[in-house]
Amino acid sequence: MLLFKSLVVKTLLFILIISGSYSSMAQDINDNISTEISGNIFQKAQSHYDRIPALQQWMQANNYSSRAAAGHVLFRWPLRVNSNYDDIPGYYMIQNYVDQDWSDGMGKEWYCKFRTYDGHEGIDINLFPLWWRMKDNNNVFAAAAAAGIVIFVENDIVNDNNCAPTNEAGNVVAILHSDSSITRYAHLKTGTARVTEGQFVQEGQLLAFIGSSGRSSNPHLHFDVRDKNNSWIEPNSSSKGFCNIRNIDSWWINQKQYWEPAVLRVMTHSGTPYMQGWINDEYKVGFCPEVEDDKAQNHFDVNASITVGIALRDVHPSDSVFVTIHAPNGSVVRSYKQAMSNSGLSDRYSRSYRTNRFLLPNDNVVGTYTINVLYRHLIFDENVSPGAFATKAYNHYFTVGCKPDETLSGNLLGSTGYITANSIKATQNILGGKVMYQSAGYIQLNPGFKATEGTVFKARIRDCNFSE
Ligand SMILES: [Zn+2]
Repeated sequence: MLLFKSLVVKTLLFILIISGSYSSMAQDINDNISTEISGNIFQKAQSHYDRIPALQQWMQANNYSSRAAAGHVLFRWPLRVNSNYDDIPGYYMIQNYVDQDWSDGMGKEWYCKFRTYDGHEGIDINLFPLWWRMKDNNNVFAAAAAAGIVIFVENDIVNDNNCAPTNEAGNVVAILHSDSSITRYAHLKTGTARVTEGQFVQEGQLLAFIGSSGRSSNPHLHFDVRDKNNSWIEPNSSSKGFCNIRNIDSWWINQKQYWEPAVLRVMTHSGTPYMQGWINDEYKVGFCPEVEDDKAQNHFDVNASITVGIALRDVHPSDSVFVTIHAPNGSVVRSYKQAMSNSGLSDRYSRSYRTNRFLLPNDNVVGTYTINVLYRHLIFDENVSPGAFATKAYNHYFTVGCKPDETLSGNLLGSTGYITANSIKATQNILGGKVMYQSAGYIQLNPGFKATEGTVFKARIRDCNFSE
């Protein structure tokens, strides 16, 4: 018997969900840094102006180069993954940009679409999927977008797990850069700040982990930029024009495409996970605070039923995923296709979580199973229209029966994984691809083991049910 179920989470772009409000679009319900705190931060910035020459000397002495365009610094992406999440293909999706039109009642952003709300001063970047779990596990941190001086640290606002419409931006770190611009990082996780006021930081340095403090309906980073006059900047801009009326050029070293279609994660569950934002297969706004039940499971008994989950970002309705599940001996135990067209939308939607539940075949084959996901997607490139289709591959491994030991030998070409309870002993000759050994006891690479150029090889001591 096969059970088939498909669930879709979609973001309707004109609906705000990061406002701390369930339905109101009033301008006073927002996740911005308050006028009062913004004023404090700007005063702090001014009090640190005389240290900018020392900052520049420090950067030069340590080879912390700063990239600059005409009149301003350039930024790197303000989020980084912790080492406990670096096997996962992706981790974020953009919820809101800077509003370009306060009064249109919709929130028009730099790309002339409506991925923001009226009066929003920054970019809201959600963790995805399972954002509460990612917050609890410290999977992602706010990173300094450029070198600078830490001028403001609020680390003690404790409403990290609710959506009380108080304390606006929650925990905040602000950095003054060498051109006197300021970057500000809000809703940070309580008590995780790793910097103090007055400290110099280099580009990419850990500031604090991503949280949901202040007026925040889910873990996300509110990243905003003020120029030297304390005016808002939308760091995204394009020579092709669009709708950024605040600044003409991009403030990024490598500006990301407006849409970035990708599979962010493939995982296995004991049942359908419950994720904030949808209920009974239907996307809902609000539900804050809300319990997340990830039902994550990576170790199954023989003949168990398994739910495969695939998190996607910036999906086009013409995209599709092709899923093939291989038994340890390579035979195909299941394959299916999921089309993205059932959303009823004509434009892309920024997040989707697809599940598929099935029973393992009744053959008692124990060992490590591989889920291979091929994501066929319409490429998005601002400069190329219409885009072509491309296919990207993603793998996830789970174990049935949690074999105690594996002894691996011979040539191996292609991405695969091995999960055991006690040991892995290997003399494999790995000829490329991405290969993972995971065991709770020990992993022993014997003479003859070889991973050749082009291989990504990882060994980790974890039990059979571990997943990030
Ligand atoms: Zn925001």
